[in-house]
Amino acid sequence: MGYMTRHFTKRTDPTLLVEGARSVISLLYNYYTDKKQQDPCAPVLSIYAYGKDYHHVMKDKMKRLFDFIIREIGEARGRIFVDSAPVLERAWAREAGLGWIGRNSCLISRRAGSFVFIGEIILDLELEYNRVPVKDLCGSCTRCVDACPTGAILPERTIDSGRCISYQTIENRGQIPGELTGKFANRVFGCDICQEVCPWNRKAPEHDEPAFEPFPGLLEMSREEWHSLDQEKYRRLFSVSAVRRAGYSKLKSNLAFIEKDPFSEKE
Ligand code: SF4
Ligand code: SF4
Repeated sequence: MGYMTRHFTKRTDPTLLVEGARSVISLLYNYYTDKKQQDPCAPVLSIYAYGKDYHHVMKDKMKRLFDFIIREIGEARGRIFVDSAPVLERAWAREAGLGWIGRNSCLISRRAGSFVFIGEIILDLELEYNRVPVKDLCGSCTRCVDACPTGAILPERTIDSGRCISYQTIENRGQIPGELTGKFANRVFGCDICQEVCPWNRKAPEHDEPAFEPFPGLLEMSREEWHSLDQEKYRRLFSVSAVRRAGYSKLKSNLAFIEKDPFSEKE
């Protein structure tokens, strides 16, 4: 979070990221799948982490688009961003007419739902741009607020990261606050709860990206196998996964934190 605060100016001013920036191309990439982990008591992984790290998958595709633009148009300077630089991703996607920012703070596309990765290409070319704003379609719905097990969804479409399972299981390098004990709904890496309950995801289309297919054996892991995960199995399963962002020690400490979680106990 400190990183984002330090880069606040860059987040709001693309010319600080790309000299002479004139356009931002905002892209969404669907990662939804209805495939589920088989053991109902197994620690739950966010669905975006089933397959290869989306940063690499997206960047490869966006690089091809960028190269295409250069081939077609000629000299241009730009940079590609996928969740890895100080860019206001959801705000740009909203500005580009790709969706609205829901009460759970996710970008929601009317067609694809919210299980989408967001990427940007910032260019020093002036492009024709869409400016068809998408209406906020949350209406009076509060499903995500009601379903969040830690009460992390605040008014004004903000998330209290200190209470958000996603932040706590991935980004937080310190100890998870004790007051959240028993509230993680058995989530070990990321949390999809506020998206799972969102009516705009009911008809989310299944992704067709082979790289996002679950690693062999991952969805079949039992609760016991998860809790006895050793370094070798971690490397085998997650060597090219976004789970590496957390790392083995963090994953183990998340597992220890949720071990007594009431959701993980067998009936
Ligand atoms: S990701 Fe989970 S913990 Fe965070 S706001 Fe959504 S439901 Fe709450
Ligand atoms: S669950 Fe309801 S309030 Fe929350 S993001 Fe979806 S539509 Fe909006």
